[in-house]
Amino acid sequence: MNSNKPSIKHTYIDGQQILFPSQMDWESLQLNPLIDDSPLAILDSIWSALEFAQKYPEIHLGLGKISSGKKWMPYIFLDIESNFQRVHLETLTCSFCNWRGKTANPMIIGLYFGDGINQDDFTLMKAAERYPVLPCPSCGNRLPRHPIWVEPVNYKD
Ligand SMILES: [Zn+2]
Repeated sequence: MNSNKPSIKHTYIDGQQILFPSQMDWESLQLNPLIDDSPLAILDSIWSALEFAQKYPEIHLGLGKISSGKKWMPYIFLDIESNFQRVHLETLTCSFCNWRGKTANPMIIGLYFGDGINQDDFTLMKAAERYPVLPCPSCGNRLPRHPIWVEPVNYKD
């Protein structure tokens, strides 16, 4: 696939060029995971991340170059306060009520590596501290780690 395809959205986040392929582009990439002849990295986890991002409009899966353009790394972004914030999705369990769900944590230094990133990784990670840390969506107690987004509780009848 060519990165100049009109269906692929291009944007710059923290100075790094990020591609947002359309749903149809992702389907083609599942069959042939190459863009401009560079392979997609971490293929085992990228498709579950894509499925998750399709469920929640505020979660976006993009691709950015790393290792001097040798490969495309998947990056997950949370649309928060008009910013696209780099996050790591992780499953947490509340120690008070046993709620278990996906959460988004920006406090992982590895999120801030990539070609073209124009600020120090630690500075970018520290800047993400401005977002409020969210409590358990079920009981309101403090969750472990540093979630700035939590999967909503699925209410059952
Ligand atoms: Zn709880």
